[in-house]
Amino acid sequence: MSAASRPSRTVDGDVGAAMYALVTELYPICRSITGDGVRETLEILRKRIALDVHEVPTGTPVFDWTVPKEWNVRDAYVAAADGRRVIDFNRSNLHLLGYSIPVRQRMPLTRLREHLFSRPDFPEAIPYRTSYYRETWGFCLPHRELEALPEGEYDVVVDSTLEPGSLTYGEWYIPGDEDDEVLLSCHVCHPSLCNDNLSGIAVLTELAGLLASRPRRYSYRLLFIPGTIGSITWLARNEAHVGRIKHGLVVTGVGDAGPFTYKRSRRGDAEIDRAAAHVLRHAAAAHRVVDFSPYGYDERQYCSPGFDLPVGCFMRTPHGEYREYHTSADNLGFVTPTALEEALRTCQAIVEVLEGNVAYVNQSPKCEPQLGKRGLYRALGGGLDGASREMAMLWVLNLSDGRHTLLDIAERSGLPFPAVREAATALAEHGLLKRAA
Ligand code: ZN
Repeated sequence: MSAASRPSRTVDGDVGAAMYALVTELYPICRSITGDGVRETLEILRKRIALDVHEVPTGTPVFDWTVPKEWNVRDAYVAAADGRRVIDFNRSNLHLLGYSIPVRQRMPLTRLREHLFSRPDFPEAIPYRTSYYRETWGFCLPHRELEALPEGEYDVVVDSTLEPGSLTYGEWYIPGDEDDEVLLSCHVCHPSLCNDNLSGIAVLTELAGLLASRPRRYSYRLLFIPGTIGSITWLARNEAHVGRIKHGLVVTGVGDAGPFTYKRSRRGDAEIDRAAAHVLRHAAAAHRVVDFSPYGYDERQYCSPGFDLPVGCFMRTPHGEYREYHTSADNLGFVTPTALEEALRTCQAIVEVLEGNVAYVNQSPKCEPQLGKRGLYRALGGGLDGASREMAMLWVLNLSDGRHTLLDIAERSGLPFPAVREAATALAEHGLLKRAA
């Protein structure tokens, strides 16, 4: 195993802490859809996984869009007449409206207020706001602080650049036995927000390391991209190859305390949709499976009608359904190592279903073969009792006619996929099953 693909886990059970540590390291960085914050983020990920970093120049046409100018910030603040900074980008990068153009002006509070954003319904939090496609500037602050600003003159400084540059994204292709691919995608364009962006980054980084260190049937393609414009750019540059994507997941918002939510692909009955629903159904925890809608994260682009890729979205509480969403309250206290670890384990379980979902043909289909004389009742472990093991073998033998896959059998029998797969492996080892052509 190369150093670049080493999972950060050192001792079993540390994996949640390792992902939380990555979230903590990435948290202070000012990310946006372009700029040095994304580059710095990808450089940190490159210490763990062998990401390729791509730069796409400003002005590049990508379907109906254009790669925007690159945005970077050196400093930004609003200072009172006595020089005291009343709003300071250095205290929280959320204070600056994303993509603010450079400004250096003195103005009265009445004019400044037109550029100030707050959330009266959540008065102690700094809201996260951007203006990517309309050139303006602004500051975001807790409503309580906005209300407390005294009348007077203020100095406004946004020391930013918005210039031709490039859009940056990270990609890692991990080849498997087959050219068919599983696409795993997360967004990397939000500043100091933990659940919305950093949780997905941490889980996919860890998952990528684990995938690279094991035998694989499928090839895996990991994308760490700015939301919307990043997936549009990737699709525009890779249109010729998207036919290889057989399954995909957008992973986002998986670090909070809410139950898991799986949003189906546009197709609704893709194998990934069935695999995710199956894993969640057999998990002890509460969960939701919801239908596709053309709103949310990058599944909007992967599932646009011109592509219609089998890509679902795996999250906990969906965007907009928690109070902390897109505010400074989506911080290091809002996500937990345990939530991240459960998300990783669930993603792994979904991948295991995809990897193992093949069809077999029963080699002794005329009446039931005799399992006892082959020692098959003792061949299976996996925590199942003897009766369940026997049921798994009987279901696999009965439905293995070359047309039913192991997921079909798991769904129809009500048994968890790992039990069905284990039964199939044992039966194949005893010559009772052969992989369907
Ligand atoms: Zn967001």
